[in-house]
Amino acid sequence: MKDVERVGVIGAGTMGHGIAQVAAAAGCHVVLMDTTLELAERGIARIRANLDEGIARGKVTQAERDGVLSRIGAAVTSGADLHDCDLIVEAVPERMDLKLTLLKSIEPTIAADAIIASNTSSLSISEMQNALTQPRRMIGLHFFNPVHINRLVEIVRGQATDDDVVAASQAFVERIGKEAIVVRDSPGFATSRLGVLLGLEAIRMLEEGVASAQDIDRALELGYRHPLGPLKLTDLVGLDVRLDIARYLYAELGAEHFKPPVLLEQMVAQGKLGKKTGEGFYTW
Ligand code: NAD
Repeated sequence: MKDVERVGVIGAGTMGHGIAQVAAAAGCHVVLMDTTLELAERGIARIRANLDEGIARGKVTQAERDGVLSRIGAAVTSGADLHDCDLIVEAVPERMDLKLTLLKSIEPTIAADAIIASNTSSLSISEMQNALTQPRRMIGLHFFNPVHINRLVEIVRGQATDDDVVAASQAFVERIGKEAIVVRDSPGFATSRLGVLLGLEAIRMLEEGVASAQDIDRALELGYRHPLGPLKLTDLVGLDVRLDIARYLYAELGAEHFKPPVLLEQMVAQGKLGKKTGEGFYTW
């Protein structure tokens, strides 16, 4: 397959803007799309802010910032021109129906040899492949937040994913300066399945009064050298996001340890979603 030079990123939110940034920083030309031009441009403004912070810390030069920004354009998804993109990454919300509708609508507009990737945290790549006439070209490229800082990309091979598509994806991940792991399509992949498990058990321990939130986090931060405890991490990811993934994993894998704890259900119902709402296991 040819090298990835032009990238389309669909969904300019938390993840999409970061994916656009790292692709442009590696020299790719990027079109960042959302449902409105305003949202796509807001994504570019977030990239500018990330780069300005990099300049303030002495990690990015002004010329690098200008170069990255010059390679990114904003567009609206409906009617967007994707025919010259070598790779299209979708980063729309974690809902299968939304992703399937989007995939069906873009496939007829893209090049025959383009790769389509999903940034899903847990949903089945093989199910998404069923929506395509050319399922072999679809793969999971699971980036981590914040994308411009986190080094991992989890590559998820669906049932129909072609070996060439895996190899081209590995080359792309290397080009953008990240490290890849390759996993088989399985609920929660390697990362979310393990990460959510720790978070859920920590919540159950809090429910049982084993220790305070701070001490449960410190147990793993100090004892096992985790950079962030499981409750603090749940606050950063969003309690609602983690609850959705837990429900999905419980339904798919049937294991009791993925059953959402009552405390998590209650906090989400009360709107305590973590950092984004100012309150979760901590006050932000
Ligand atoms: P987000 O809500 O921040 O952003 C999603 C964006 O998609 C929004 O700007 C929304 O307007 C846009 N959108 C919705 N429908 C669209 C459409 N049809 N066309 C174009 N844009 C559309 O969500 P996010 O946190 O960036 O998550 C996106 C994906 O990345 C999800 O699948 C999520 O599971 C995954 N993910 C998230 C994280 C995280 O920490 N937030 C980490 C890894 C993976």
